[in-house]
Amino acid sequence: MESKSTSRNRNFERKISELLKQNAKNLHTCPLCGERIEIGIEKGVLSEISKDGNYPFPHIHLHGSPLHAMICYVDTHFVVRGVGSVRSIEISRDSDTLQQFVKKWSNAY
Ligand SMILES: [Zn+2]
Repeated sequence: MESKSTSRNRNFERKISELLKQNAKNLHTCPLCGERIEIGIEKGVLSEISKDGNYPFPHIHLHGSPLHAMICYVDTHFVVRGVGSVRSIEISRDSDTLQQFVKKWSNAY
């Protein structure tokens, strides 16, 4: 049985991370293809990064044909400070990587 304060802390953490997720959600233009892309960062990733305290952190969004990535540098206020593109992408051809890809793909954030 968990205490009331533990459950209160968990609710607080959930609210904060929802807020962070919303703030990190932004529309940005891919410099390579010009597509307007809304980025979102997973809550779990955000909390790991906030523990590390390494800002700005890079976030990549894979899209397009041929496949490429938009790379965003996100600051401590979860604002995108810089945007670049990645043309050269290599994906490991193993089942763990494929599983992780499918997991990311089926999860909105
Ligand atoms: Zn693009």
